[in-house]
Amino acid sequence: MKVTFLGTGTSVGVPTVGCDCDTCRSSDPRDNRLRTSLLLEKDGRQVLVDASTDFRQQALRAGIDQIDAILFTHAHADHCFGLDDTRPIMFRHGALSCFASDITWEGLRRVYWYAFEPAHYPGVPKIQAETIDGSFCLYSFEVEPLTVIHGRLPVTAYRIGGFAYVTDCNQIPDETCSRLEGLDVLVIDALRFKTHPTHLCLEDSLRYIDRLKPRRALLTHISHDIKHQETSDNLPAGVEIAYDGLQMEVD
Ligand SMILES: [Zn+2]
Ligand SMILES: [Zn+2]
Ligand SMILES: [Zn+2]
Repeated sequence: MKVTFLGTGTSVGVPTVGCDCDTCRSSDPRDNRLRTSLLLEKDGRQVLVDASTDFRQQALRAGIDQIDAILFTHAHADHCFGLDDTRPIMFRHGALSCFASDITWEGLRRVYWYAFEPAHYPGVPKIQAETIDGSFCLYSFEVEPLTVIHGRLPVTAYRIGGFAYVTDCNQIPDETCSRLEGLDVLVIDALRFKTHPTHLCLEDSLRYIDRLKPRRALLTHISHDIKHQETSDNLPAGVEIAYDGLQMEVD
């Protein structure tokens, strides 16, 4: 499976509007972070994980011309406001299968109420709503949804073979931790240095990485507090900061 990081930034993106900090003014492209999202590709199928606020820009940048499904982690704006911008793909290929938990569907249906009206205008998103209830096969992807805690909101993390994506959480329940052992690649939320009520800070993420012992760990959903090179120099072996455009092959 090929993994592409379409975005690795926190909800406001980096650079952040109106900020002139070192990271926001950095000339290192790895300090330019669109909102968090992934593209997974295998056997000619392309699956998007979250439709970020920046989806349109990410799709044009990555040359995405087709998506076969979307897996949603939760319905916060930064993870779902790009769903409307997937319409060109829906217009060309028909309704797009979107997978989300019950609680995420509650949020998505509130945001995209106009797509679920019985007699709708032809320009609205065409959504094939699929509710997640345990592991499932999506084309040749074996998808294992797992629950993590984001303040008080349950968020869906995904394990696919040796790869796991754990964004937007401040706590990983023991039951989920036990499903995240033996990973080749773990992608995990690491918002900033200081603690945060709904996100893992860098120290929290490193503690989970130490417990789960993936072969390779990548940090995502990063704010402007973390400057790529400076922070990378001080990370333990096997831990890296993800950046937009980063690609890897994972079994
Ligand atoms: Zn987020
Ligand atoms: Zn800044
Ligand atoms: Zn969130």
